[in-house]
Amino acid sequence: MPWTSRKQVFGFLAVPVIMASSLAAQTAATTGSQVSPLPKQSVASATPPQAAHEPTRADILRGAYGEDRANNDLLYYHLDIRVDPEKKIVSGKNTIRFKMLKDGNRIQLDLNPSLNVDKILLGSTELKYERELGAVFVNFPETMRAGHTVSIDFYYSGTPVTTGRFGGFTFGKDPQGRTWIYTACEGIGASIWWPNKDQWRDEVENMEISVAIPNGLVDVSNGKFMGKTDLGDGYTRWDWFVHYPINNYDVSINVGNYVEFSDKLGDLPLDFYVLPEDLDKAKKQFVQAKGMIEAYQHYFGEYPFKKDGYKLVEVPYSGMEHQSAVTYGNHFANGYLERDWTGVGISPKFDFIIIHESGHEWFGNAITAADPSDMWIHEGWTTYLESLYVEYMWGKDDAIKYLNGYKSKVESKQPIIAQHGVNANPPSDQYFKGVLFINTLRSVVNDDAKWWKLLHEFFQHFKYKNIMTEDVVAFFNQKTGMNLAPIFNQYLRHTAIPTLDLKFDYSAGTLAYRWEVDEPGFAMPVRVGKKGDWQIIEPTAEWKTMRTPIKKDEFDVATDLYYVNVKKE
Ligand SMILES: [Zn+2]
Repeated sequence: MPWTSRKQVFGFLAVPVIMASSLAAQTAATTGSQVSPLPKQSVASATPPQAAHEPTRADILRGAYGEDRANNDLLYYHLDIRVDPEKKIVSGKNTIRFKMLKDGNRIQLDLNPSLNVDKILLGSTELKYERELGAVFVNFPETMRAGHTVSIDFYYSGTPVTTGRFGGFTFGKDPQGRTWIYTACEGIGASIWWPNKDQWRDEVENMEISVAIPNGLVDVSNGKFMGKTDLGDGYTRWDWFVHYPINNYDVSINVGNYVEFSDKLGDLPLDFYVLPEDLDKAKKQFVQAKGMIEAYQHYFGEYPFKKDGYKLVEVPYSGMEHQSAVTYGNHFANGYLERDWTGVGISPKFDFIIIHESGHEWFGNAITAADPSDMWIHEGWTTYLESLYVEYMWGKDDAIKYLNGYKSKVESKQPIIAQHGVNANPPSDQYFKGVLFINTLRSVVNDDAKWWKLLHEFFQHFKYKNIMTEDVVAFFNQKTGMNLAPIFNQYLRHTAIPTLDLKFDYSAGTLAYRWEVDEPGFAMPVRVGKKGDWQIIEPTAEWKTMRTPIKKDEFDVATDLYYVNVKKE
């Protein structure tokens, strides 16, 4: 998603902090991930992650991967709903299929308290359940054995809450006063409008989405369009099939008076859905989708949701990376909401929302963080993808200039990685400091051919997986043969960036240098001296000395390639 304040998201379920000891223990125990094994590095941190606020009971229920979640592995959802724009009611069911990983007699699902649970069926047996805030604990009549596949039908109904950054679930109107219904629920969670296992670690393997709406309207959801069926009662059901793992918040419905046009990139179908009055503007602006996909395919490999196609869908909010059906509301203009987003004259060359939100198809959707604490894996990387798009289109100088424009947005108030297990809301630095850190990493690798190979392998290794920062660090360490953990830790797990401390001694003709950092064992090479004739030094936290004829005022540090502070004495 694009950066905007998420503060309002967290107001809706303010309850006193009750740290149930079992849940707290489960939170602490949840550090694994679903990726193929790589050597694990110690990434212990000196600074414990800061919570933006004390986690509430609701945050813990949403964020902890407790035993009633960990005892099962999602396989499949069929969300089958009817949306009534007149009564503003959503009703229907989600069929949830999962495999038990451990013996157990209950699982945790989630549904916003504003919605009714109508019934939960296992075959024809009605299951008992308990609700606590946003959680629904479903009880089985007998123990379900590890290895067994279970399918339940979760019936629900009600009026979903309209809230959060882009509306949560909104029964709206388009500018012509026609029905326009849309969802955007990252942060607050998909359980705001449908029942699911609402966390990031576990994704279904594939999913069906069936949406019945009044005749004449169009629903665009994720995946491949399978067809529509006139239900004979004034409603038509639109069926979509998602062939890949999908995170819950990416699941979306967009119901409106859409018209469609399409194109192809090789054999990848591109489908565009806009309001009729915006068709001409969209046909001009959306040609950028092709160059964007070509650029990202160049760096990372094939578009990851090929069987589902690529779609852009007009919405009234700025945009969101809904998997294979990216939503778009950037005024059919370049920049971000018609602004020069990084302020250095590059952003007006392209449509920020097409480039950023679609970048999430690679980072966020194909590779997903296993906990919102590590959301920089989505946002830091996708912000870096913006600069890769610039590099692909206009060259490296423009890319470096573009991403350095993000420096003015860095706040450095708290570490990028937030608290695990509490549905955390990491700070905006995950985007801006995130991209500057990844650019720094490129300079540390100091070999572009190697860097491009590394990026390609990184994506291919982790696509369709849910990972944590530890997995990223282990991968980069293994592939480079370097110990990059202290560098990752300083940028991601501490608030301050490194400061290069320089002390000139003209009488001796020497320069003393060291890093001022929080992270023990931090060492990072950096280019210094004269621009165009850089020399690489390898400072650590201990003072080292070099000879240099360059005076203090002329002595430069390549701060556009390494995101560091410089202190000269
Ligand atoms: Zn984003």
